[in-house]
Amino acid sequence: MTDEQPTPLETEIRRRIAGDGPMPVAEFMALCLYDPDHGYYSRRMPFGAAGDFVTAPEVSQMFGELVGLWAVTAWRAMGEPNPVQLIEMGPGRGTMMFDMLLAARTVPEFRKALRVHLIEKSLDLQMRQRQTLAGVTDVVLRWHGTMEEVPSGHAIIVANEFFDALPIHQAERCSDGWHERAIGINAGDQLALTALDKPIAGFEADLPRSVRKAPVGSIFEWRSGEFIDKIARRAASDGAALIIDYGHAASSVGDTFQAVRSHRYASPMALPGLTDLTAHVDFEALARAARKVGARVHGPVDQGTFLKRLGIETRAATLQARAAEEKRSSVAVALARLIGTGSSEMGALFKAIAFSAQRIDALPGFVA
Ligand code: SAH
Repeated sequence: MTDEQPTPLETEIRRRIAGDGPMPVAEFMALCLYDPDHGYYSRRMPFGAAGDFVTAPEVSQMFGELVGLWAVTAWRAMGEPNPVQLIEMGPGRGTMMFDMLLAARTVPEFRKALRVHLIEKSLDLQMRQRQTLAGVTDVVLRWHGTMEEVPSGHAIIVANEFFDALPIHQAERCSDGWHERAIGINAGDQLALTALDKPIAGFEADLPRSVRKAPVGSIFEWRSGEFIDKIARRAASDGAALIIDYGHAASSVGDTFQAVRSHRYASPMALPGLTDLTAHVDFEALARAARKVGARVHGPVDQGTFLKRLGIETRAATLQARAAEEKRSSVAVALARLIGTGSSEMGALFKAIAFSAQRIDALPGFVA
């Protein structure tokens, strides 16, 4: 498809902009990702080598196994409740849950206590997850479109690369205040970012101190608190939650709205519906929201530090000792990808944060 032939979603977006004026970034992102007919997650298989990007569980089984062992330790810290609801937000292909349940085999009492809930908005991906987990017959697995459908009580919640896919809002600092950014149509008849005319009333008061004095031209991004509130509330009352994603530990200004297609960066406005749109996760904002609803916050720490503390190097050595030459080097490559600190590696770019009930004062990976 070329620029001359807009995608069906671009045609719809242009129609709406013509009627209502520029469309806020959050609305544009939500349409591009979740439109039931033309949205990216509704109609494409984004993951894996043939897709647009590779996530940590797809890099190596070690990732899901260690998250599984993290869940076992969290469960022990909770007093080994039975039943315990294990909730995964946005499971993608279901690979992480598969590996978590594999690791849980080493602790049969934990596996027996588990009720697994996969929260997935895309029906296509739900189907993909069912295929991945088809062999799991001794654990109850349930799929839901929203978290509200999960029974109350003790819960362990995990989310990998879930928040980066949630729509962001952007605001730009202008001389008369902060203006929400939106997608309009420029003089060349292209979709383009612009700032809405009126400043957002009272915006400055809610901003983190470090951002309030940002110079004109700065961009600040935020997400709706809907998911973080629900996750943190459940963790605070009766459980624990682990969130892993790429982003920054401290709130700051910067434009991180990005598009990835076939492993390459693209313009977020190009080919709406066919391109994956994401933005960095503001871990300070997550921590602030979690504390507000009474959760204890652990971290954030870099993914590399987190995985090393959980023993990923030992796990890699064990896998290598058992493997043939070729597999040995692929384990080494995967390990470097997951914990390395280079710009194409995940170890420093990605962070982990956990929430729990106040009485749980330590969780694995978050203490030296
Ligand atoms: N955790 C997976 C996939 C990450 S991609 C991995 O690491 O490989 C983001 C996932 O979240 C997709 O499965 C997407 O369909 C799902 N998702 C995004 N927004 C959602 C929402 N509002 N409710 C439920 N699932 C959502």
